[in-house]
Amino acid sequence: MKWMNVLNQEFLPQESSALPEKKPQGEEPIREEKPRGLSRQEVLRRKKEYGENVLVGKRKKHAVILFFEQYKDIMTMILLVCTAASVFMGEYVEAITIAVIVLMNGFLGFLQERKTERTLESLQAMAAPHANVFRGGVLCSQPASELVPGDLVLIEAGDRIPADGTLVSSVALSCDESMLTGESVAVKKGEDEQSVYMGCTVVGGRGEFLVEHTGMRTKMGQIAGMLNQISEEPTPLQKHLAGLSKYIAAGCLLICAIVSITGVLRGEDLFSMLITGVSLAVAAVPEGLCAVVTISLALAVSRMVKQNALVRKLHAVETLGCATVICSDKTGTITKNQMSVHAFSTMKTKECEKPDRSDEAIEQMLLCFRVCTAVQDDAPTHGSATEQALYRCASAEIPQKPPMTKVAEIPFDSTRKRMSVLMKTPGGGYTLYAKGAPDVLLSRCSSVQVGSRIVPLGAVERAQLVKQNGVLADRAMRVIGAAYRQAFDETDTAEEGLVFLGFAGLTDPPRDGVKQAVFRGRQAGIKTVMITGDHKNTAAAIAKQTGILTEGERVVTGAELDRMDDSTLRNTVMQTSVFARVSPEHKLRIVRAFKQRGQITAMTGDGVNDAPAVKEADIGVSMGKTGTDVTKEAADMILLDDDFSTMMTAVAEGRSIYANIRKFIRYLLSCNIGEVLTMFLGMLFSMPVILLPIQILLVNLVTDGLPAIALGLEPYDQNVMKKPPRKPEESIFSNGLGFRIIMCGILIGLTTLGSFVCVYRMTGDVTHARTAALFSLIFAQLLHVFECKTEEGSIFSISFFNNKKLIAAAAVSVTVLFCVMYVPWLQMIFSTVSLSFEELLWPMLFCLAAPVLRAVIHR
Ligand code: ATP
Repeated sequence: MKWMNVLNQEFLPQESSALPEKKPQGEEPIREEKPRGLSRQEVLRRKKEYGENVLVGKRKKHAVILFFEQYKDIMTMILLVCTAASVFMGEYVEAITIAVIVLMNGFLGFLQERKTERTLESLQAMAAPHANVFRGGVLCSQPASELVPGDLVLIEAGDRIPADGTLVSSVALSCDESMLTGESVAVKKGEDEQSVYMGCTVVGGRGEFLVEHTGMRTKMGQIAGMLNQISEEPTPLQKHLAGLSKYIAAGCLLICAIVSITGVLRGEDLFSMLITGVSLAVAAVPEGLCAVVTISLALAVSRMVKQNALVRKLHAVETLGCATVICSDKTGTITKNQMSVHAFSTMKTKECEKPDRSDEAIEQMLLCFRVCTAVQDDAPTHGSATEQALYRCASAEIPQKPPMTKVAEIPFDSTRKRMSVLMKTPGGGYTLYAKGAPDVLLSRCSSVQVGSRIVPLGAVERAQLVKQNGVLADRAMRVIGAAYRQAFDETDTAEEGLVFLGFAGLTDPPRDGVKQAVFRGRQAGIKTVMITGDHKNTAAAIAKQTGILTEGERVVTGAELDRMDDSTLRNTVMQTSVFARVSPEHKLRIVRAFKQRGQITAMTGDGVNDAPAVKEADIGVSMGKTGTDVTKEAADMILLDDDFSTMMTAVAEGRSIYANIRKFIRYLLSCNIGEVLTMFLGMLFSMPVILLPIQILLVNLVTDGLPAIALGLEPYDQNVMKKPPRKPEESIFSNGLGFRIIMCGILIGLTTLGSFVCVYRMTGDVTHARTAALFSLIFAQLLHVFECKTEEGSIFSISFFNNKKLIAAAAVSVTVLFCVMYVPWLQMIFSTVSLSFEELLWPMLFCLAAPVLRAVIHR
């Protein structure tokens, strides 16, 4: 790796090159004695002048357009035309009522679509990137949209560059500018190439740049439209249902046509039969199915965000329910990421908890941790938890900044597993300090410090040190080695021939709840796999504590992985639950191996090199706190709290939303079959028209919308995590759902028809019979909605009151039904009459008989 000189550690922006071209009047260049970055007032002033740092995206649909889009369905249009025609025929009341019902239906659809849109928009805002910016001398994380020209921004590997600007300092910085130039080779940045551009990503190193252009004035702004949006691609289920809806619609239309034509042949009025057919089509065609699925997915997504799982792509909600393997990082996800140094170990001092400063190796080690760090003195909270723990411990022992200047640095990355700095000492000499994974570092050492002596690192010493490392790792500690050597000049930067100093052991306890989550996963048929860059023993110890590694399961190291070909790896993965000392690049092979074994794999990641594996996984998961922008963008889901347990909660949500979708599909389709069948059988048996168009539309209004959505909001069933995962290729109608839908549809149809016949026989009046049929159809559907709460049990085994929204939706429907039946002016509009108790008795018995019958069959 090429060493980059640190251009200017104490850099302060230079007015000429770094400030934006359009310099506001009276603007003060930032002087040396001032804190780094702009002041809050200056930021406010510039924000007013330059606006937000955002790209103007695609235009949102206007509410009016969205409203009218609800009526673009061909059947609705025909119905509205027919309604207009009935006005000319003097059928004012009926025409107006139909129009009102159709309008209300459309309005409900409009409200639902708006809500879905708003939910997705707010999630998009949550997923928006942040930038590390110096404001008033303090490094803080701000939404990237808040940046203004003149801001001083810190960028690191994995960040998406938030604005255009000029570098003022950099350490081994390289950027991927392919989205602007199409060139996939990373561009090295430094003295020769100082411009950085919004939207490009940092692939390695770090740097600080001064913002020149923001928002649409950036290069990226000129290539408009490249917005980081939550994907609105339809999910596989939505696509499947869209296809299916077409067949159902075709079937319904055919039946509606038959109903109308038979009516006309039997001598019914042509125009009223046309309206009947079209009304039936409007009611029966499940055009709302896809919309309700989208709404439920969007609502599930907003529920999940409250539990810290931010879903970026809707299809992830579905896939989550099928997950069979969850590959998780260790540090920060399974553990708390609260690192603290708990042990020191050198050749002389085998182990001590507090650094024994009489041991010269420990003294040197502290110095190494004090200077060999990415933590900056003016940003001590920046850097990984490991860096901060080492820096905290070293600066508590050595509070004064050592009198040395950093001349060069190779930053830490998870593939190299080490970092080094070259320091110039006051006497004009140079010392190279290195820290990293002990095995990696030891292979670059030729001697070891024992007290004040430096002795050659022979096989005996190596074996001794490996043993000491193992002792710390066995106690679940992350172990960092330290080394140094005298360097000749400012170009002598090879990490070789080092003097090994010793180890620091860092503890990081497992997160609360992880053990339970792993157990829950096992019960649900989900295998948890830990993937870590840490030592085998450290990983195994944590995995045992959390129940991830059990009897008979293996720990595989990165070195072993390198020796395996793909087929061996494929045969090994299912017995492996820990991958230790792996590099991010290994993760891709691991994901592929699991996928080739037919597993639906979730993979977490945070660093820039994790992005390919996260993208490859069926469910790519990025960490919200420690995740880089690049990984977040590759991910389907972001864990806002970085917690492993959240993933299990998300899987449970994914499973329950799928179960809920099945519930309302069952409900909607069986009700629609019931409606069509009623009319069809009526015609077939030469009965009078069972329901008038206006009545059919009323049924559609009160039973299809609200109860179906409320069913999608069913609280999550505790049993979902006690079953094995669903197979992704499994049809939504699997496990007999299709059969049940048809049976229930037939029963609803027969119930309605039975009620009609009974009351017709009792009263000899068709209006009475129609009112009874209307009552039956709505009442049977409302009973059925409660039946749909459970797949396994019957209506007698459900908990009625655990979904208040469903109760409310049913109550609204019942109220509307009774008003239509008993309020005189509504009776006039809907052609109904008041039914006596006796007349209601039979329809009621019919309606109740169906669920009772099903419960008996079920037993
Ligand atoms: P996990 O998956 O558990 O989060 P990781 O894959 O991110 O782990 P890394 O952070 O890559 O693991 O660390 C790998 C090894 O590199 C550690 O075991 C440690 O020995 C060493 N290491 C970690 N951080 C640093 C650092 N800042 N400087 C030097 N060495 C480090």
